Amino acid sequence: MNPVKSYDELLREIQELQFQLEEANETINAIRTGQVDALIVKDGGGHQLYTLKSADQTYRVFIEQMAEGAVTLNEDGIILYSNSRFALMMHLPLEKVIGLTLEYFVHDVSKDDFHALINAGWMADYKDELILNNADRQSKPYLLSCSTLELDEGTALSIILTDLSAQKENQYQLKLKNDLLEDARNHTEKLNNQLELTVRERTKELYASREHFKFLANNIPQMAWTNLPNGAVNFYNQQWYRYTGLPFEETKDWGWQAIVHPDDLDETTQKYITSLKTGVIFEVENRYKRNDGVYRWHLNRGIALRNEAGEITLWVGTATDIEDQKRAMEKKDEFIGIASHELKTPLTSLKGYLQIIGSYKKEPLPVAVKPYINKANEAVNKLHYLVNDLLDVSKINAGRLEYRMSGLNISDMIASCIESANHIYPLHNFTSHIEPHLLVNGNAERLEQVLMNFISNAVKYSRENKGIVISVSKKGPNVRTAVTDFGIGLSDTQKEKIFERFYRVEDKKFLSSGLGMGLYICSEIIKAHNGDIGVESDFGKGSTFYFDLPLL
Ligand code: ADP
Repeated sequence: MNPVKSYDELLREIQELQFQLEEANETINAIRTGQVDALIVKDGGGHQLYTLKSADQTYRVFIEQMAEGAVTLNEDGIILYSNSRFALMMHLPLEKVIGLTLEYFVHDVSKDDFHALINAGWMADYKDELILNNADRQSKPYLLSCSTLELDEGTALSIILTDLSAQKENQYQLKLKNDLLEDARNHTEKLNNQLELTVRERTKELYASREHFKFLANNIPQMAWTNLPNGAVNFYNQQWYRYTGLPFEETKDWGWQAIVHPDDLDETTQKYITSLKTGVIFEVENRYKRNDGVYRWHLNRGIALRNEAGEITLWVGTATDIEDQKRAMEKKDEFIGIASHELKTPLTSLKGYLQIIGSYKKEPLPVAVKPYINKANEAVNKLHYLVNDLLDVSKINAGRLEYRMSGLNISDMIASCIESANHIYPLHNFTSHIEPHLLVNGNAERLEQVLMNFISNAVKYSRENKGIVISVSKKGPNVRTAVTDFGIGLSDTQKEKIFERFYRVEDKKFLSSGLGMGLYICSEIIKAHNGDIGVESDFGKGSTFYFDLPLL
């Protein structure tokens, strides 16, 4: 039995052991860092000298400096030796690592692999990846490379441990990037496929609509073409080739100009260019040379096609053969000319005879006859105006309407017209605003004709409100003469056509006599005076017809 030790003895023993431990630690450190070559160890059998071979020393230093952990195990798996790196990896002081089993640090999920590794490692060099926990229970992947080591004391298993977490992280990041790349590639491929499909469908649609257009273009009686925004023609229909007898090459782009009648080329080209510049509808009458050299009149119309942004992408045009209509119109004009001439002679005689009857004094006329003579006079007057209008129209068409121009005071002229109007239309209420002393160069008779036509229309087309306002005033370099009524007014489409030959508004409610010649004659007269004619109107509220002439 051990004698009981006193407190002081125990304290001394502890201090002795502590001192020995510190000494041992220093010695281990000295051996590890290569500061000692040999050491004397005291054991039960006395002092013994241990020499460290110089080659071992180099390796020890080398192992100590390694970035990897290094351990040697005995057959029981106990760590006999560890470098400082391994201790650092495991978050333990070196002296605590030695003596522990390596398995102590192996994560549960890697236990089986660890046993397999150790078993295999004792047989031959072997490697595997395992998860180890450090003393703070933090897990990390490691590569463990085993090989056996022949030591003086026997065989040991040396294991080098490489921290794989950075490599694994890199691999993980790489995989993540790869996955993203793969996703992007898949997405791009999908988009590509979609795009291809859309393009294929669009091409099909485009082809169908082009064929549709061609079919339509080739089956209309008109000649048709399409041209680019720069004016170059890029398509003609079959009718064009049939009519001109020329291949595409000869009339493509601006080649069509060669078959336009030389007298019509300037106007056609001007209007074509204006439309290209402004985008307004191209409309012109011209003559195109047929394959047999004969020119025929055509009415050309072209409209601009625009894309979603409103830009012109193409023009589509047609040329309609109006030669036959022109001929028919000419024949009609000729007939009107002859007929009105033929009517004029008996009409003049009729007027004369009626005057004689009216002024017959020898025997008093029966009372009942007098009103008939008045009625006959009125009818003859109407006929007279009609025939005069017809004659004017045929003269205008033949370019034979004459104007003897002279300087005239339009203010006075209009004032005297208003006086006459007061006589002719006593039921209407004329108001006038006339700026005095306005001079123009013109034919008084024809200008009176224009004003009286405006007035008679104002009377004709305003049955309820009998007010009519006539004004003459300066307007810039012009003088404007205007007649305002408060009658039925005109719609926008009617306004556009009102000055055309034989145009009449087909409104059954307001059907009145007339052939639609008056305003046409007026506009031709004003044109011959270098003036402008026009109308402002509110449908259902009234109209203002005016003409502007240059001031003298
Ligand atoms: P018409 O002899 O038939 O009146 P015009 O050439 O003088 O022929 O006029 C052509 C058409 O213009 C008429 O049919 C009529 O519908 C319309 N018009 C002319 N003046 C007026 C007006 N002051 N108010 C409404 N409509 C008018």
